[in-house]
Amino acid sequence: MMYIAEKTRYENMKYNRCGASGLKLPAVSLGLWHNFGTNGNFDTMMAMCETAFDNGITHFDLANNYGPVPGAAEENFGRILKKSLGAYRDELVISTKAGYDMWEGPYGNWGSKKYLVASLDQSLKRMGLDYVDIYYHHRPDPETPLEETARALDGIVRSGKALYVGISNYNKEQTIEIAKLFKEMGTPFIINQRKYSMFDRTIETDGLKDYASKNGIGIITFCPLAQGLLTDRYLHGIPQDSRIRTDGRFLKENAITEETLAKINALNEIAKKRGESLAQMALAWILRDGDITSVLIGASKPAQILDNIGMLNAPVFTEEERAKIDEICSK
Ligand code: NDP
Repeated sequence: MMYIAEKTRYENMKYNRCGASGLKLPAVSLGLWHNFGTNGNFDTMMAMCETAFDNGITHFDLANNYGPVPGAAEENFGRILKKSLGAYRDELVISTKAGYDMWEGPYGNWGSKKYLVASLDQSLKRMGLDYVDIYYHHRPDPETPLEETARALDGIVRSGKALYVGISNYNKEQTIEIAKLFKEMGTPFIINQRKYSMFDRTIETDGLKDYASKNGIGIITFCPLAQGLLTDRYLHGIPQDSRIRTDGRFLKENAITEETLAKINALNEIAKKRGESLAQMALAWILRDGDITSVLIGASKPAQILDNIGMLNAPVFTEEERAKIDEICSK
């Protein structure tokens, strides 16, 4: 049956301006790092993307290497675009990245112009697109001159294959350095993608969060639920359908220590008092100060996406709740 998007899709979602750019991103974006590879179920993938879009999630985040196997998530997303969402291309913000291992030899990794240009061409082919909305350099390259990486991204925008440029995993100093180059070239650099959650506050301690929000750079935060730890997933053991069991490449059983479980339980009690799920509270907490553009969630089923966007109705955090959350997480 032909997919027709929900008429109400823009009624509840909040859209935040991405830095000082003209682009707005939904407060919640969907990432395709897990559950979109060759090991995933295609019908579930499609249902997740449609559920997301039906509820105002216009932004889908990919990378060349998302799988397994590398490239598979882009291929599956390309199939989804062809079957349904593609009819709404102008309502979608599609991003991809290059920076990690992609193909063999010296040109399939890091930050050279050779790699970045070829990788985007491959990504566009896999997704069946003429352009992506945001093209990211996935991680800083200590060997390639930063100017080469910046110029490659600038040239890609000028070629029409990407509308905006982003960086990922760049710390504050690296961000300042590349932003200066982009400014000189007039490149539409709008966003840094970094890890951030109640459990990982590096962007606060390295100063990036404060710097970016004060300097017109958007921030989108990945692993906002600490890959599922900041949810009710592991409160009563390790479910067979959880990430630890289905795809433990990055989240392993040894992450569930007694200490971590105690923190999750204590946070869950606060969430309950606030009348929300732990996932909702963890996401609302990221957006609490208004300096994060979008939380980039992952999901294994459509119901999780619906639970997560319930965060949009979260009550404001009291000073007492903020302090208690900090106290629990710092133990
Ligand atoms: P999350 O921290 O949001 O973890 C997602 C996982 O949490 C889901 O797969 C699911 O796990 C569980 N979950 C989600 N919602 C709920 C819920 N409501 N209740 C219970 N469990 C829930 O993010 P990810 O780690 O998936 O990362 C998100 C995105 O960030 C990626 O897809 C990617 O786009 C991006 N990213 C970018 C990186 C970079 O270097 N730039 C690095 C890593 C990620 P389960 O399978 O157990 O159901």
